[in-house]
Amino acid sequence: MTPTCEKIDELLDLVKQQQMFLEMFARSWVSDYRSSGGTVFCGKGCSNCCSLAVHTGFAEALAVARQLDDSQAEAVEAYAIKLRDLVQGVTELPEYLRLHRQQMGFCPLLNESGACSVYPVRPLSCRSLISTKESIWCGADFSQIAAAQRDAFIASLDRKVVAFPSHYVAVLQESGKELEETCAKRMRALFGFALYGNLGVLIHLIRSHGLDVACCSGAAACAEALVKSGFNHPLLVTIS
Ligand code: SF4
Repeated sequence: MTPTCEKIDELLDLVKQQQMFLEMFARSWVSDYRSSGGTVFCGKGCSNCCSLAVHTGFAEALAVARQLDDSQAEAVEAYAIKLRDLVQGVTELPEYLRLHRQQMGFCPLLNESGACSVYPVRPLSCRSLISTKESIWCGADFSQIAAAQRDAFIASLDRKVVAFPSHYVAVLQESGKELEETCAKRMRALFGFALYGNLGVLIHLIRSHGLDVACCSGAAACAEALVKSGFNHPLLVTIS
């Protein structure tokens, strides 16, 4: 890949520390919850949450982009282009999330065994998604579920720990968001702006459109790269 500036390496170091911190926190939380009688259903090969749209800060996407081989990069490119075409004319987040779930399939980084092919560098948003219900619920499209079944699901939730009305652990999601915001603040301090967006789209822009090099030149260069590549859609990437 094209060499970038030292500021990017500083961001990558921060992201690595944050991901390790959340990993340890999640393990400790899960262990305590299980000891107190709670059940967590996440495990290797359990991948239904990998059909959700994953959004991350720029540095986390860069950490993944630097790990990919050519075939992984091709799968990510196909995903990014399909998503770019799918969201043309879409302006609302709920519509974007619904279309993503119904038409994008699984994350392009999920391998044939149903495991994450970039597990050591997977983003905070993936690490923070810990399920207190069976995996079928992680892949459920609630707009297609009968009201009685949906009510039974909601009644079964452990409201003390979940981000209600979801079945994911609230404190871990909140921690992931706080860590993401810390990284965004650091990026603003170093670069004068922060980038946030869809994981596959950011990876594709880094690998094929020089978004990492553009970052080192400033927000205007990033905005230009988004326009030139056709990915200047606020639901896909934002510059703040
Ligand atoms: S990056 Fe890995 S954990 Fe995250 S959605 Fe993709 S396959 Fe799943």
